[in-house]
Amino acid sequence: MDAPLTTLQNQDPKRSWRRLSRRPYLVQWLILGVGILVVAALIAYGLYRDRSDMESGERDRLRTQAHVINDNLGRQLEATDKALLGIRRDIPKWNTGKRLLPDITPRLKALEEAMPGVRTLVLIDAEGIIRASNRDALVGYDAHQREYFLQVREHPDPGILYLSAPYRTSLGIWSINISRMIPGLRGEFAGMVSATLDPDYFKTLMASVQYAPDMWAAVAHGDGIIIMIVPEKEGQSGMNLAKPGSFFTRHMNSGSDDNVYTGTVYATGEERMLAQHTIHPKGLPMSSPLVIAIGRDLGILYAGWKREVRIQGGLFLVLALGAILSLIAYQTRARRFDESLLKAQAAVEKSQASFELLLSSAGEGIYGVDLAGHTTFINPAALGMLGFDREEVLGQDQHRLFHPTHVDGSPNPHGDCPIFLTLADGMRREVEDHFIRKGGETFPVHLTVTPILENGLRVGAAAVFQDITRRKETERELVRLATTDPLTGIANRRRFIEQLEMEHARVRRFGGFAALLMLDLDFFKRVNDTYGHALGDAVLCHFAALAESHLRRVDLFGRLGGEEFGILLPGTDLAGATEFAERFRQHVADNPVPGDKEPVSYTVSIGVTEFDAQDSDPDSVLARADRALYLAKERGRNRVEQAGR
Ligand code: GH3
Ligand code: MG
Ligand code: MG
Repeated sequence: MDAPLTTLQNQDPKRSWRRLSRRPYLVQWLILGVGILVVAALIAYGLYRDRSDMESGERDRLRTQAHVINDNLGRQLEATDKALLGIRRDIPKWNTGKRLLPDITPRLKALEEAMPGVRTLVLIDAEGIIRASNRDALVGYDAHQREYFLQVREHPDPGILYLSAPYRTSLGIWSINISRMIPGLRGEFAGMVSATLDPDYFKTLMASVQYAPDMWAAVAHGDGIIIMIVPEKEGQSGMNLAKPGSFFTRHMNSGSDDNVYTGTVYATGEERMLAQHTIHPKGLPMSSPLVIAIGRDLGILYAGWKREVRIQGGLFLVLALGAILSLIAYQTRARRFDESLLKAQAAVEKSQASFELLLSSAGEGIYGVDLAGHTTFINPAALGMLGFDREEVLGQDQHRLFHPTHVDGSPNPHGDCPIFLTLADGMRREVEDHFIRKGGETFPVHLTVTPILENGLRVGAAAVFQDITRRKETERELVRLATTDPLTGIANRRRFIEQLEMEHARVRRFGGFAALLMLDLDFFKRVNDTYGHALGDAVLCHFAALAESHLRRVDLFGRLGGEEFGILLPGTDLAGATEFAERFRQHVADNPVPGDKEPVSYTVSIGVTEFDAQDSDPDSVLARADRALYLAKERGRNRVEQAGR
């Protein structure tokens, strides 16, 4: 059982089992996991890039818009300042304000009309009384309590342009004034010229730079008070932005004129990207700068991007989920397949094992051949009977090894081989044949040849054989027993009659002739009675041996029953047979059987006849011989009589 019996086993099933159970399920998950992570990272990176591109693009745009406002407003301030300076130049130096002023009203009116950003121009004396204005209604108005007046009077400096804090005008609108101080003869505060900037102008300017509906723009005073916000938001004009942490505060503290921040806007509480710009035109010393802010709603700005995130994220999730489900499905199927493979392998191994067991334990010789008649497997019993080693047999032509010749040594062609016949016609065969051992010794076998089918296709044949030497011997012994007389060892009646029938048939077919003798011992009853049955048997044997010694090989001697015998002499005629019978009769009479006390003499009577092709049946021949024998008895015994046809 150590070495495999067949060539079918060319792989180690245990090893492939182990390989199967170690299928890289985990590795597949790792690869998928890494793949998903990489894709996720790529998507996230792409989205991040999109967002930062969008953000920086938006920053640039907002900054540009802030610049536009800055440029416009700066120019407006410069132009207005020039107008104020022009008016101041033309005003004579006031001492106490008691001198009469030249009427500058027409000039103020003309200036106001020429400057779209200016709403009101006023000339205020040192006491705060409006002395001239493009608006007649304002002349005489006492502004000495007004912030914009106090601001200039407290810190009079002819060199700077005063920018007032935002205030609600008498018309209820938030606005600012820009003013120049008018110095007296000694440089003291003698009054001021002031322009109220037109809120509509701001509105138009700030609306003109908004390119998206979610935008707003605001302008604030350098101290943090919002002058105007466009579009208008309830309660926000006038709000003070100079709070710790606000964008405004950060901007003012940054030391830069120009900043873009992202986050929560203090004034509105919205998530915004906000560009801020400080306005202080070059060469124009101002009491305070203006700060403009322009912003976009981050939620709306990134709405498209967020939608893209959702779409890509959703797609990614669907893909990842699909990949995971696919892998689960694949692995489930693969596992099921592996399991069935394992089962199939176990079944194959089991059947292989039982096949091996059957082969190795079978008493019969078993071997298989492929379509070319080459041995594919052979069991130990077969090897034992044939005397070969497995290596000498596997892959070899079994016919050339096991039965190249017939029993008589004549060549046995492949065409006569039952195994090749079955390979050719697919029929099962059961025959008696002869195999030849390695040493050359022939032995009889009972051979069964069965075709081997695989999926209905003939792929070879299996031979099962038994050494039937013993059976053949037994058969021969049985035949001998059935045809031999047990006492004398000569042919019995049955065999004798068969032989007679054959000889009769032969002469009828091929011509020629033969003689038949019937012999009967005389007064044999008396021999038995006198000497005993045992001696009677001895006489019968003695007689048989005597007769055999007188016969040729072709002759047949048989016991027909009791003390009656027959002799068949092929090719002998009546005369020859009679002559032989006479000689033999004499010989019997001359050869007594050596008995216990004395030799026992006995005689025989013989009836002779002949037959040839004219005799229609063997019974008539027998009857003739019997008649002749009867005659010999009648005529005194110990004689030969013949009967012709
Ligand atoms: P005849 O001369 O007329 O032939 O007389 P016979 O006594 O020989 O013939 P019969 O037929 O009367 O007797 C035959 C005897 O042969 C009877 C039997 O006892 C004897 N006998 C037959 N077979 C055997 C045998 O196998 N052994 C012995 N010892 N005696 C046998
Ligand atoms: Mg008799
Ligand atoms: Mg007799």
